[in-house]
Amino acid sequence: MLVETINGMYINGQWIGPENNKVIEVFNPATFEKIAEIPNGNGEDAKKAIQSAKNAFPGWAEKTARERSQFLYKAYQLMMDRKEKLAKILTMEQGKSLNEARGEIEFAASFLLWNAEEAVRVYGEMIPASKKNKRLWVVPQPIGVVAAITPWNFPSAMITRKVAPAIASGCTVVLKPAEQTPLSAIEIVRIFEEVGLPDGVINLVTGDPVEIGEELMKSSDVRLITFTGSTEVGKTLMRGSALNVKKLALELGGHAPLLVFEDADLDLAAEQAVLSKFRNCGQTCICTNRIYVHESVKDRFMQKLQEKVSNLKLGNGLDEGTDIGPLIDENGLRKVKDQVKDAISKGAEVKFGGNQWYGPGGYFYEPTILSNVTNDMKIMFQETFGPVVPVQSFTNMEEVIDAANDTNYGLAAFLFTNDLNRAITVMEKLEYGIVGINDVFPGTAEAPFGGVKESGLGREGGPEGIKEFLEMKYVSLAVKDTNY
Ligand code: NAP
Repeated sequence: MLVETINGMYINGQWIGPENNKVIEVFNPATFEKIAEIPNGNGEDAKKAIQSAKNAFPGWAEKTARERSQFLYKAYQLMMDRKEKLAKILTMEQGKSLNEARGEIEFAASFLLWNAEEAVRVYGEMIPASKKNKRLWVVPQPIGVVAAITPWNFPSAMITRKVAPAIASGCTVVLKPAEQTPLSAIEIVRIFEEVGLPDGVINLVTGDPVEIGEELMKSSDVRLITFTGSTEVGKTLMRGSALNVKKLALELGGHAPLLVFEDADLDLAAEQAVLSKFRNCGQTCICTNRIYVHESVKDRFMQKLQEKVSNLKLGNGLDEGTDIGPLIDENGLRKVKDQVKDAISKGAEVKFGGNQWYGPGGYFYEPTILSNVTNDMKIMFQETFGPVVPVQSFTNMEEVIDAANDTNYGLAAFLFTNDLNRAITVMEKLEYGIVGINDVFPGTAEAPFGGVKESGLGREGGPEGIKEFLEMKYVSLAVKDTNY
């Protein structure tokens, strides 16, 4: 295909092309084919984008909630109308199967719709005062200019999950998408342009993450950084934001345990474990990173798991019938190979897969199951972000809860049981922001998504998600005695 050079930065309503031929090349990870070139922006571009968002803020904040909501409705409709085209672009730059990409576009659009509905319900509060002559209330106001930094694994949904509540609440945005997947971001911003969002309300900067990140942290005009990505970069942003006490919302890495108890529906558990582990080639923040199965059902569960994994088809995401696409890049592939090698060297047994796959080119790795795993293996404590799952057995509930919690991460955990009492007890003891009970798909626009410990700060989705973009102004009024 023809490589397109795209005017991929959008600042104050203008599309901007690469300057001095400085471009970032975008590749299809399934074929290594170059598919586009986009501007390699820098700190100066970030400054301009911040200024544009700052200028647009007062006008946007004073619009009525209903007016803001209308833009989101229209954007939702346009995104759904373009589902097929957007899914194809997503698959080409990110690698996931077309079916998964279609699902992601629907998920991304759901944040536009839900926040369009919620925009008009951002209520304040009256507080009953302890003094007779006082009237106290809380007024929610938009925080101001927001920097949204997003990852490559969900190149559309992670953008709308941030941008939709920002727009709904009256904030203006500087968006910095991941280098590997800027094309989906560009398409989303084009949608906002087409629905007539005023200039400067959304700005898009592509390019050098360190330079752009520095500007976003340094600027006291940026009042919130909302970030989804690795815990390592999240910590960098925390340190940088201390300079001017900037608010942060961080959706970071995870290491999700999946617990299978002896009374679980084993067919369901195996089916859901496969969906959780292998969708997006294992590159999902809440995807199962380790499975713990009760000793008494381990053999039966393993057999079902292997059967289902053996049916998964690797390939180019654009080909019908593909279940698993490639990893995003060389680093992603290297990390997976390293974790498998490390586990084998410490005694793990490969039950399925275990090799790189050369198929159509690209960064492919076979879906892999490991058993005989021990806690000193990297895969048991490092985020894998690839299609490999280690399985360990347990004998009692307390032991498995301790094992599940023995990590610095705390994003999502899953458990499979048909015993209601056990489900509640275990759920309450798991130190995670999200718990799925017989359910590995907890993510939805109406519920608060986010982690504890080193998995993040704040929540995305639901009314809690909008609150991240608001300051709560407290007002105290002293009423004079009058003789009206
Ligand atoms: P990443 O390397 O941390 O990158 C995320 C974003 O940060 C990208 O846009 C990246 O830009 C940018 N970035 C990198 N260095 C930066 C810096 N010094 N200052 C400012 N921005 C910087 O993460 P990733 O590899 O794209 O994504 C995978 C990670 O995201 C995993 O750990 C996953 O668990 C996590 N994740 C979490 C959630 C959640 O909801 N908790 C959801 C999805 C993913 P470049 O691309 O240009 O480097």
